[in-house]
Amino acid sequence: MEKIKLLIIGSGPAGYTAAIYAARADLSPVLYQGLQPGGQLTTTTDVDNYPGYPNGVDGTKMMEDFKAQAERFDTDVRWGMVTKVDFSSRPFKVEIDSNDHILAESVIISTGATAKWLGIPDEERLNGYGVSACAVCDGFFYKGMDVVVVGGGDTAAEEATYLAKLCTNVTLLVRKDHMRASKAMQKRVFNTKNLKVLFNHETKSINGEKGVESVTAINNLTSQEVTIPAKGFFVAIGHKPNTDLFRNQLDMDENGYIIVKVGSTKTNIDGVFASGDVADHVYRQAVTSAGTGCMAALDAERFLADQ
Ligand code: NDP
Repeated sequence: MEKIKLLIIGSGPAGYTAAIYAARADLSPVLYQGLQPGGQLTTTTDVDNYPGYPNGVDGTKMMEDFKAQAERFDTDVRWGMVTKVDFSSRPFKVEIDSNDHILAESVIISTGATAKWLGIPDEERLNGYGVSACAVCDGFFYKGMDVVVVGGGDTAAEEATYLAKLCTNVTLLVRKDHMRASKAMQKRVFNTKNLKVLFNHETKSINGEKGVESVTAINNLTSQEVTIPAKGFFVAIGHKPNTDLFRNQLDMDENGYIIVKVGSTKTNIDGVFASGDVADHVYRQAVTSAGTGCMAALDAERFLADQ
């Protein structure tokens, strides 16, 4: 069975940054790309907030650059999915694509998180053309325009108030008669003048041919419909960390995010590290993911040196 020093699971900014650092430290990392090579950034268009790209960069192109840089230092980047892990003893036994197995002395988990979507057809049709799941990434494009945000938790409150600073009018659609967001966040929402909350409203359709033009919402108590002119539609109903594979083996919080020791990327299992969105529900940015990817590689290097 193949035996390696370091396995990296996931190919977003965290995974590739971990690979760059680990490869340069002679750990000969093997990186499995997973179902969505390049991760969440490949679903966005322009990335304007990643330092080093003064003119912005297409999300997919940026991830190709990350990959090329990792491969330049001989990271073994492979197609394929990790389908099972056994962290009960070292080296860790890992199953690939349900048939192959490898043994890894250490593992960096960078499997990311997936934005939850409403599941209505317009959302997919206009994704990247006005429909987004990240206000910090895409809000800038809607400067001076009207937008709609859907969701009632902290993410929705944060995204709506963030957008209110850029946009002319923000409408927040909350499906219940109250928000789930913390009281402090709700206060911010209600104190923002150009932000209007429509309680008991659900999205019926996102309208427009080539881009979003308006959003039709329905009052779930009265069945009355309202069409709100908007150029952007932001879905902020939560994220799901991609951690099903590690359930019952790693400590996780109630939402399934991997818990790491403060100030490090160490999980509860020695030799297993977590970086990027899989362990971060707060910042969730490419640059913060890359930062923790770097930390994970340094943590893994120190761990392996101590063995
Ligand atoms: P949450 O799960 O807390 O909230 C999701 C919201 O989306 C809920 O209001 C839910 O409604 C609504 N929703 C879910 N599905 C639909 C749907 N199909 N249609 C309409 N609305 C829907 O997710 P968040 O991402 O907001 O937060 C996740 C965690 O991260 C929380 O613990 C939060 O506190 C934390 N967080 C902290 C931040 C901070 O500290 N700065 C910032 C962001 C998040 P309903 O209430 O009806 O179920």
